[in-house]
Amino acid sequence: MTALLEVEDLRVAYGKIEAVKGISFKVDAGEVVTLIGTNGAGKTTTLRTLSGLLQPVSGEIRFDGKSLKKIPAHKVVSLGLAHSPEGRHIFPRMTIEDNLRLGAFLRNDKEGIEKDIKRAYDLFPILGERRKQAAGTLSGGEQQMLAMGRALMSRPKLLMLDEPSMGLSPIMMQKIMATIQELKAQGTTILLIEQNAQAALSLADHGHVMEVGKIVLSGTGQDLLHDESVRKAYLGED
Ligand code: ATP
Repeated sequence: MTALLEVEDLRVAYGKIEAVKGISFKVDAGEVVTLIGTNGAGKTTTLRTLSGLLQPVSGEIRFDGKSLKKIPAHKVVSLGLAHSPEGRHIFPRMTIEDNLRLGAFLRNDKEGIEKDIKRAYDLFPILGERRKQAAGTLSGGEQQMLAMGRALMSRPKLLMLDEPSMGLSPIMMQKIMATIQELKAQGTTILLIEQNAQAALSLADHGHVMEVGKIVLSGTGQDLLHDESVRKAYLGED
């Protein structure tokens, strides 16, 4: 089987600073794959490059059989790759429903869009209850739900989530993780970036540990969860 996403020897730099130093990994259709690692490891840079927001120095990105190199961000979305960015980036003055509609900007199948808005409300009932309110009135966790809902509105083949649990209370975080689990059960392919290694590895099929721009360890979510070095470095064990 060919992978949905294949990243090969990817290098990305900000001027002279090399943030991603030759990483390779793949994501098969239907899988949840996670990149974990501490601050500054290069996880966000990797996602931004996959989205077309940054250009790699070298390496290859193949998505659904096509090379993504030199494809601009708006085209990447139309190929089926959606990105729910770190820090959410919702539009605070627009209503929740209009924020969701924005995620469908490339679609013109009205019925399908309405169906998917309903699906977002099924997934996140709070968004439905507040759909006419300005998105800026939502709590941090609810804004994270909106960002995920919006990314799903493009009906992506691959959903990329950058730190969905960032800044959330433990209960909110559990909710977000349960939703990721639910999306997975519905067949959504997900690339998840997380600092919360425990939560991410618990639900991931495969994981990769990044340190200063490199992948230093890879395995199934369960293998990494039980790996001694991972437990020491990322799960706070002595
Ligand atoms: P975090 O969890 O803190 O977001 P990360 O693993 O996502 O960490 P990146 O944000 O990808 O890491 O950062 C990787 C490296 O690139 C860091 O050393 C960071 O300081 C640097 N970096 C990130 N963005 C820029 C930028 N716009 N200009 C210069 N250096 C940057």
